[in-house]
This record gives sequence, C-alpha cells and structure tokens, in this order.
Amino acid sequence: MKGMALLVQKYGGSSVGSPERIQAVADRIVLSRNAGHQLVVVVSAMGNATDELIELAHRVSRNPPLREMDMLLTAGERVSMALLSMALSDRGVSSVSLTGSQSGIITTSSHRRARIQKIYGDRVRHALDEDRVVIVAGFQGVSESKEVTTLGRGGSDTTAVALAAALGAESCEIYTDVQGVFSADPRVVPHSRRWSTLPYDLMVEIAHRGAGVLHPRSVELARRFDVPLWVRSSFTSLDSLSIEGTKIMSGSKISDRGMEEFSVVGVSSDESKLWVDLELMRPTVVGSIWDFARQAQVAIHQPSFSEGKMRFFIDQETEAEWKKALEKLTYEGFVSKYEVSSHWVPVSVVGERFTQDGAALCQVVDSLARSSIFVTMGAASPLVITVNVPRNRAKEAVQVLHETFFQKI
Ligand code: ADP
Ligand code: ASP
Ligand code: MG
Repeated sequence: MKGMALLVQKYGGSSVGSPERIQAVADRIVLSRNAGHQLVVVVSAMGNATDELIELAHRVSRNPPLREMDMLLTAGERVSMALLSMALSDRGVSSVSLTGSQSGIITTSSHRRARIQKIYGDRVRHALDEDRVVIVAGFQGVSESKEVTTLGRGGSDTTAVALAAALGAESCEIYTDVQGVFSADPRVVPHSRRWSTLPYDLMVEIAHRGAGVLHPRSVELARRFDVPLWVRSSFTSLDSLSIEGTKIMSGSKISDRGMEEFSVVGVSSDESKLWVDLELMRPTVVGSIWDFARQAQVAIHQPSFSEGKMRFFIDQETEAEWKKALEKLTYEGFVSKYEVSSHWVPVSVVGERFTQDGAALCQVVDSLARSSIFVTMGAASPLVITVNVPRNRAKEAVQVLHETFFQKI
C-alpha cells in the first residue's frame, strides 16, 4: 500500500526460541500492522539452533567444507521464517517467507563471512505491494555464482539494516532479549544503564569492542545509509505499544558533563578474540601477514608492529586458518616464532575525548591496578581505550571499570 511507513523489524534467536515465542512475535507483528505499517521482518534461527548445527557438522566431519557449512547453517533461519509465516497465517495476516537468495541479497563468495554487495529486493517489493508481511531469513545471501553464503555469526542484524537501506525503510528495529543498549552487558553489570539514544560513531565502537547486542557491520551500514536503528526487547508486554529502547541515530548527545570533559558510554570485554604474538625473520616481511589476511578475508584487530615483532587479536573462528598460514610462513622462512593464545582478552572503554589529556587512561589503569589487574599492554584513541586483561579476569575488569566511570547510577 502506498503512503504507509515501511519498517524493517528483526527478531533474534532468543526472540523466536520456542513455539510460544514465535506466537508472541506474530502478535507483535499484528500490532505493528494494525498501527498502519508495511513490514519486512528478518528472523534468526531459533534459540541455539546455529550452535547446534555447527556441533552436528563437527560430529560427522573433522573439517567440514565451508560451502557445506553454509548450506547447513542457512537451514536454521529457514525453519524460523516458515514457522513465523504460519503463525501469521493463523492470525489472518497475509505473509510470505523468503530466503536470502529469494530476496535478492547478493554477497561476495567467501563462505561463512560473505559481505553484502547489493540487494535487488524485487520479490520483497512485489510482496509488499500485495500488502503482505515479508519475512526474510537473516544472515544469508547468494553469490554471483549462485552459491548460498552466510554473513558471519550474528549477521542477521546486518541483513535487517541492509534491507532497510535498500528498501528505503523509515527505520530498522532490532528486537532482542534486553531492553536496549546498556553501558555494559547487563548480564555482567546488572545495574548498568540503558541509553535512550546513541550516536552512530559511538555505537560502531561499542559493537566492535565485544558488546554482542548488535553485529558491528549492521551499525556501519546504518551509519553509512543513515538508517535510524532501534534496539528493543521483544519480551515486554504487548499492551505497552510505546516500548522503550535505544535509538541509534546521527547527532545525538550522550553526556551532560562539562563541555570538553571526556565521557564514557560503554565498557566491554571481547572473549571471542584470540591473541597472536609473532616474530618475523626480518622487519620487512610484515607484508606477508597482511597478504594472507587480505586473501583469506580474515580480520586483524588492533595490530601493533615494530622492528620485527607483531601483535594483534584475531576472531576465534579464524583460528584454524591463522595457524595453518603461520605454520606455512614459518616453514617458508618469513616468521621465526609465533603464538596464538587465548590468555589475553581485550577490555575496552568507549566514549569521547579520551586523548585530550591522560585523565581517562590513568583512571582505567589505576582502578584495575587497585583490583590487582595490572595492565601491561593496551592502546588509546579519541573514542576507545583498550587494555589486555587475562581471560579469567575479564568480567571482573568490566565490573571494576564500570564502577569507576558510572559509580552506581
Ligand atoms: P539476539 O539473539 O537477539 O541477536 P544477542 O545475544 O546477539 O541477541 O544480543 C543480545 C545480548 O547482548 C544480550 O542478552 C546481552 O547479554 C548482550 N550484550 C552485551 N553487551 C551489551 C550492551 N552493552 N547492551 C545490551 N546488551 C549487551
Ligand atoms: N543464526 C545466526 C547466528 O547464530 C545469525 C544471527 O543470529 O544473527 O550467528
Ligand atoms: Mg545478535
């Protein structure tokens, strides 16, 4: 129907984790429909379905081919999209479920970490014109050579924002199991505070530093295409139509501190990272590391390098590839020594104006030292301070830093 606002809503794994939860999501969709919106709904796989599929794969194969992993994992989202469409049909709402491929989500060809290149979306638009709710399987697409791909863990958020941008939606609402974006993971810091608005640039940093609430690429997309992004809970009761949440948008202010004082919006740890420490045969062969990362399309986080030494974090799921590559580079005489270790975890404080003086960094290091967490490695930039902390102290470090910067609000 012309003239109605188009919304993209995304429901994460816990929001569609059981038949009852799927019913609840269907009820919420009915409400949004009755409020006069056109709806595209992106769903994740039910509960832990993706983890279970991965485990299953490793029970039949020592080294499952990435292509077949994508065939397998995309099935998770197929289940939930079909079930949600059935639940809507029961409620008299006309809907259609579409896979990523049917929705025309075209990606690069790298299995398990494909990137969206463009979205045709013809079938989505057509179904919207027929006044249907369109349910799209999150986290998946298809390459130019018609291979099914996935976008990386947590990628349904990115599907939702990409669709919102491509379809010109008014906003994108991410429904999850918490009421918005908090100053720290509420599971780790129960009294953390919820932000009602956050600017894109800070949310990009928060997402990149381990706050699992939004897939980092989804926030980057929202910023690039200026899509207003909401994070809300799907677990609140349905009578409160004006449910609260966090709105991520351009130009929102976050702090009422002194105009030029530093301010903090988030504290997080990122336990999905591994630490790599290596020595090169000659300082000039540092390019061999970048070459591998570029070709394999694996990320290097927070690299630091000087005089033949190199240190950085990698994503846990790329561990096997890194080890294979480092082994080969050692054999070929580029690398003299390497270690991939789970000992260190990056703990970050995100905010503004961190480097105008040493105040914020000093508070980070001092408060951790007072809890006998001694910081010997880290980095600071205007928006982020990151320190390396032993894995078994990471949660405690987040609690200590949150206490330091938010003092029991
Ligand atoms: P979904 O299945 O809906 O995608 P996720 O598990 O990916 O949900 O993301 C929601 C979780 O993110 C929350 O349960 C919470 O524990 C975690 N989280 C981590 N950091 C934050 C934060 N700063 N604010 C809110 N939630 C956070
Ligand atoms: N089901 C996928 C995962 O668990 C994608 C997502 O939930 O966003 O990673
Ligand atoms: Mg998620």
